Amino acid sequence: MNIILLGPPGAGKGTQAMRLVEKRDMIQLSTGDMLRAARTSGTAMGKMVADVMDRGDLVTDEIVIGLIEEQLEGDAKGGFIFDGFPRTLAQADALGDLLAKHGQALDAVIEMQVDDDALVARITGRFTCGNCGEVYHDVTKRPKVEDVCDNCGESQMKRRADDNEESLRNRLMEYYKKTSPLIGYYYAKGDLRSVDGLAAMDVVEASIAGALG
Ligand code: AMP
Repeated sequence: MNIILLGPPGAGKGTQAMRLVEKRDMIQLSTGDMLRAARTSGTAMGKMVADVMDRGDLVTDEIVIGLIEEQLEGDAKGGFIFDGFPRTLAQADALGDLLAKHGQALDAVIEMQVDDDALVARITGRFTCGNCGEVYHDVTKRPKVEDVCDNCGESQMKRRADDNEESLRNRLMEYYKKTSPLIGYYYAKGDLRSVDGLAAMDVVEASIAGALG
């Protein structure tokens, strides 16, 4: 099964993708994570995209389509979860072509619906464990012991450079201008399923499971 998690920054795509990986043996393909890894390892591409990402703009279609194409060459296990990709109509068309080239298809697009005030609050307090990826929040989900991950016990909490209010406003604008048209695009194709992304994490997980059948 190949699915897309679609929604604005802070909708909970990464959190739900991690749960699908655990429960269904799927492979998470997050272009945001791939781009951050390229920055950390200091590749030429990583240097090229750093400023664009910090501003909250989108990097070029060519770069992200190339990243996804590389990953589709590998073992598909229980299927792919596209997290943060596609973000433009050109990327959506390219994904359809790439899947077809590999004899695969898209099974569902899960739209995670959230309101904008909730997003700003969620994102500006967000931090994650650098070791296992568990997500925390200054107000709603603090670790039981300050700076120690409840899940893996490591002390490697980190915050994303673009999780600040100014960059977030830009990321939201990019979402509404360039990504939200994908909701209509996938609706017209008959692939769209919508879930309430503001519910508790377990409830969202159950809604996604229901939508996937
Ligand atoms: P994310 O972790 O998905 O919020 O992505 C972080 C940043 O990476 C975005 O604000 C963009 O600058 C860039 N990015 C990630 N995925 C894409 C994509 N599919 N298309 C363009 N830019 C992307």
